[in-house]
Amino acid sequence: MQSTAPKATTKTQNFWNPMAHPGDPASRNFIQIVKGDGNYVQTAAGDWLVDGVGGLWNVNVGHNRQEVKDAIRAQLDELEYFQIFDGCSHPRVHELADRLVEMTQPEGMTKAMFSSGGSDAVETALKIARQYWKAVGQSQRYKFISLKQGYHGVHFGGASVNGNTVFRTSYEPMLPGCIHIDTPWLYRNPWNCEDPEELGHLCAKQLEAEILFQGPDTVAAFIAEPVQGAGGVIVPPANYWPLVRQVCDKYGVLLIADEVVTGFGRSGSMFGVRGWGVKADIQCFAKGINSGYIPLGATLVNERISSAIEGCQSFTGAVMHGYTYSGHPVACAAALASLKIVEQENLPQNAAVQGELLKRKLEHALLDFPAVGEIRGKGLMIAIDLVANKETREPIDPTNGYANRLAAVTMREGAIVRPVGTKIILSPTLTLTETEVDKLTLALKIAFQEVK
Ligand code: PLP
Repeated sequence: MQSTAPKATTKTQNFWNPMAHPGDPASRNFIQIVKGDGNYVQTAAGDWLVDGVGGLWNVNVGHNRQEVKDAIRAQLDELEYFQIFDGCSHPRVHELADRLVEMTQPEGMTKAMFSSGGSDAVETALKIARQYWKAVGQSQRYKFISLKQGYHGVHFGGASVNGNTVFRTSYEPMLPGCIHIDTPWLYRNPWNCEDPEELGHLCAKQLEAEILFQGPDTVAAFIAEPVQGAGGVIVPPANYWPLVRQVCDKYGVLLIADEVVTGFGRSGSMFGVRGWGVKADIQCFAKGINSGYIPLGATLVNERISSAIEGCQSFTGAVMHGYTYSGHPVACAAALASLKIVEQENLPQNAAVQGELLKRKLEHALLDFPAVGEIRGKGLMIAIDLVANKETREPIDPTNGYANRLAAVTMREGAIVRPVGTKIILSPTLTLTETEVDKLTLALKIAFQEVK
């Protein structure tokens, strides 16, 4: 790793950070990251920090990977861009679609639609779900059921199924027919249920009750993340996804797995649903698909959906959806190179092993602090839940800046973590080693000791 940092750019004020109040001076105090290498990034001040957030849950193969950069360069030399509309294509989009269908064989995926990121991938999934029901003559099935705390991006469809009102309030009215039910969250749930198996049943029953209440013939799909990410790394009980699949099957409801974060190893298995032994009808991918080197999203559908839409003779058979940058050749080339690394280095397995180690070491180092309620996670998705009262599990006041102050000290001590309201979130590169596990743990321990 180079010790001299590339020169930083003057901190102009001419863009808004996403998900921040542009009038808040704190949001204008940018921390410029100027270089990346492996599991580390460098600040403009020259400090190398453990990338405990993996870019934004996405730099799975690590920074500055030669294989990915070579693939990008080679693709730029060959063909920087051509569209895949109007019956056109290019070699990389075929190769990547084949690769994704092959990788998702156990899940039964048959066709891919490409886009530019996670919100696009979700939007594509929601629209394809609606279109499927029109194609099979049940256009009255338009509703979506999703989970409170779930996160599915920022487009109107995705934001409508988002479970946290902060993503909706300023943009309402949202899509009609979006219903939110309880999350299978052992630490906090409306039943105060502490038994995982029982909670799985309670939540699956609630899904069934909601489908019946809405009328099964009006419900298009249930969408959820195999492990909730942005909502606070909520890991459902082991029986939850299999029960959800059963309920969906009972009423013909499509099951959409939003794998934008969990796809390609992050939760410790190649795909999140694979970790639960379940097949969805649609899987949404982005982020880890090419480790964030170039924006890309993909939505995969199974035979049920692909055959219905391909066989539909009416106008609704045409998929009137797609983006200029769908299947961008450079993004596809980066994905092919990145996925090769994911498989060759068995990164899902490394995420499982290092994730378990990190969780254990964090628990050992932090659980005695009064503000640490719970440390939870699966693979390299981990959250530290911050509480005002350990007994009642009442969360800290998110407006008092405690999580931000913790993250600032952690950064001073050599690691980047993500403060999200009442949680600290960790989603490091999947190439993480025990060296970085220890650095992250120590930096956080110092932060908890220091910040009051
Ligand atoms: N779905 C999930 C589960 C996500 O975590 C995200 C982003 O974090 C999205 C969708 C949206 O992806 P993007 O930010 O690439 O639009």
